[in-house]
Amino acid sequence: MEINAFTIVSDVCEGIGDCFAACPVDCISWAQDKTNAKGTKYAYIRGDECISCGGCLSACPIEGAILDEWFPELQKV
Ligand code: SF4
Ligand code: SF4
Repeated sequence: MEINAFTIVSDVCEGIGDCFAACPVDCISWAQDKTNAKGTKYAYIRGDECISCGGCLSACPIEGAILDEWFPELQKV
C-alpha cells in the first residue's frame, strides 16, 4: 500500500519536540529509550495516521529533520 505521509529523519532530529504541538492528529511519538546518531532522543511519525498537513515541518527548527514524503528507511521507530 502506498503511504502518503511525512518522515522524521531519525539521525537528523535533535529531540526538540516542537513538532508535537503542531500536529493536528497527534501522530508523532518519541522513540522510547533510544538515541540517534547525534546522541539525542528523536521522534517518529506514524505514517498510517499522518494527513500530510505540513504543520510539523513548519514548526521544526532543524533543517532536514522532516521530509514531506514517506521514507520509512530513514525513520527508526
Ligand atoms: S522533528 Fe524537529 S521538532 Fe520534532 S523532535 Fe525532531 S528536531 Fe524536534
Ligand atoms: S504532516 Fe501534519 S499530520 Fe503529518 S506528522 Fe506532520 S503535523 Fe502531523
